[in-house]
Amino acid sequence: MKRIAVIDKEKCNPVGCGGYLCIRVSPGNRMGNEVFVVGADGKAQVNEDVCTDAESVTVKKCPFNAIHMVKLPDKLASQPVHRYGRDGFILYRLPTPMFGSVVGILGVNAIGKSTAVKILSRVLSPNLGKDKSDFSELLSYFKGSEAQLFFERLSKGQIAVSYKPQSVELIPKQFSGKVRDLLERADERKQLKDVVKSLDIGEIMDSGINQLSGGELQRVAIAAASLKKANVYFFDEPSSFLDISQRIKASRFIRGLADGNTAVVVVEHDLVILDYMADQIHIMYGEAGAYGICSQVKATRNAINTYLSGYLKEENVKFRDHEIKFSARAPEKLMKSEPAISWENVKKKLGNFTLVAESGEIPRKQVVGIVGPNGIGKTTFAKLLAGVEKADSGSISSSVKVSYKPQYLDFESGQLVESVLDVDSILSRQLNLGPLMKAPISTLSGGELQRVAIADCLSKNADLYLLDEPSAYLDVEQRLVVSKVIRERMELSGKTALVIEHDLVFVDYLSDSLIVFEGTPARLGSVHGSFSMEEGMNRFLTNLKITLRRDPDSLRPRINKPGSRLDEEQRRSGRMYYQ
Ligand code: ADP
Ligand code: SF4
Repeated sequence: MKRIAVIDKEKCNPVGCGGYLCIRVSPGNRMGNEVFVVGADGKAQVNEDVCTDAESVTVKKCPFNAIHMVKLPDKLASQPVHRYGRDGFILYRLPTPMFGSVVGILGVNAIGKSTAVKILSRVLSPNLGKDKSDFSELLSYFKGSEAQLFFERLSKGQIAVSYKPQSVELIPKQFSGKVRDLLERADERKQLKDVVKSLDIGEIMDSGINQLSGGELQRVAIAAASLKKANVYFFDEPSSFLDISQRIKASRFIRGLADGNTAVVVVEHDLVILDYMADQIHIMYGEAGAYGICSQVKATRNAINTYLSGYLKEENVKFRDHEIKFSARAPEKLMKSEPAISWENVKKKLGNFTLVAESGEIPRKQVVGIVGPNGIGKTTFAKLLAGVEKADSGSISSSVKVSYKPQYLDFESGQLVESVLDVDSILSRQLNLGPLMKAPISTLSGGELQRVAIADCLSKNADLYLLDEPSAYLDVEQRLVVSKVIRERMELSGKTALVIEHDLVFVDYLSDSLIVFEGTPARLGSVHGSFSMEEGMNRFLTNLKITLRRDPDSLRPRINKPGSRLDEEQRRSGRMYYQ
């Protein structure tokens, strides 16, 4: 076994820990060895060679969880693909793009997915874990592996890559001007018209990039990446901020790019969408922030079930200490509790948009999923319930105090997390916020910022907690943790959560009942419910014209292939939601 020692430089905060705490407490340093030193970048640096088991004390003391010490089999540890510096994150093995296929990458955050994608797209030159390495060494390293053909073609300049980054909200910081300008500039394939149609962006072509919503930015980013002339297309989390029908449309579009000369690679945490989009999947596992290993490629269904099980049979590796299980929901706890709030014939006009809510109520002590397209009035409705906006007509039982987490997160970025967040210790532990507290908000990743925003919303004193797309940028495991936290808190406090969500696995796992929004985006929205899950999902899936089944092994929801036996059977019996 070889010991690897890693400092996660993004997390290391020498000021926040009171001044290089690791150097002060390390047993090795105290004995005169330079185990921890100050690196050239001002962050802590660890010297792996002189590191011993005794340093587990130091690992535990670092308040930012920035130090990792792991023992790995010699064979694996001697063959990294890339290491960020001498004591940085290590990536072992690579996913392989395949021509004619959509290859998915599935794994927790900070496990090296983006690093792998950057290497395959030549944004990052892999160093094989050494100080330097050249391309010929790289080619011999991949000899005999599936990646050989890809790297050979890459070295001959036969591969051109195009890349859609994860954080689409950064685009307005890099480009100004109109959508049309951006896309015309990107249009090397001369496919602008078709792409605009497939992704439904015709109406926003003359909008300024800085006026777009997250869902619009996402579609523009997917369009821009796909318009480039390339034979490998990477999409990093293409579903964030899209509603379900947009996700399905985007998936079809992305699938359509793969042909004999074109490979597509996607990183995606929405399992229903990943399942729908990918032909094959690599699982990435290891220790977040320390090292990541890319598994052999597997067929999609098997890969997702394997990922949920936490055990890779072929490699004989248990990469999680528990299985992730879904359950077929028992329809008992429905609508029994008294309403937290109810409404009658509510109408509200905003410019060209009208929202109508006939009669309905939201039960107490529940988590109510809110589903429906973007731009249909979900937030407007919540504002009416909160009394922030007044309805034009109709009545709402009483206005309740609402704590709101918006879809897009905008904290004052210069501040430290601890100065904006006041959470109890249970919430802090559940969402693993301790290591983030002394970090400046501007340094947080998308997923970290999301956890902070969720905690901020749940820690306020309110009657209704409204969370808009809490899953964005969270990995699968974090999504499930967040579901559990929201459910437990509502159960304990007797309060109600309204969660606007587009990830169907998450909606299914989280919600006791559903409110369904229908209508035409930007024109007319109508509110229906709340319904039992079965009734609500049936209604919602009928609108979407899709049917869902449960996977027999993992019980996760899957979209039926249109026209398949199951799809037709379910449609005929009116059970769009599960067998
Ligand atoms: P994922 O895409 O799975 O979330 P990443 O590939 O972004 O994971 O990151 C994996 C690890 O590598 C993280 O711990 C991250 O902090 C680290 N890392 C990423 N980029 C750099 C860099 N330029 N220098 C040092 N460490 C980095
Ligand atoms: Fe402080 Fe941890 Fe960085 Fe060491 S590794 S300087 S303890 S934050």
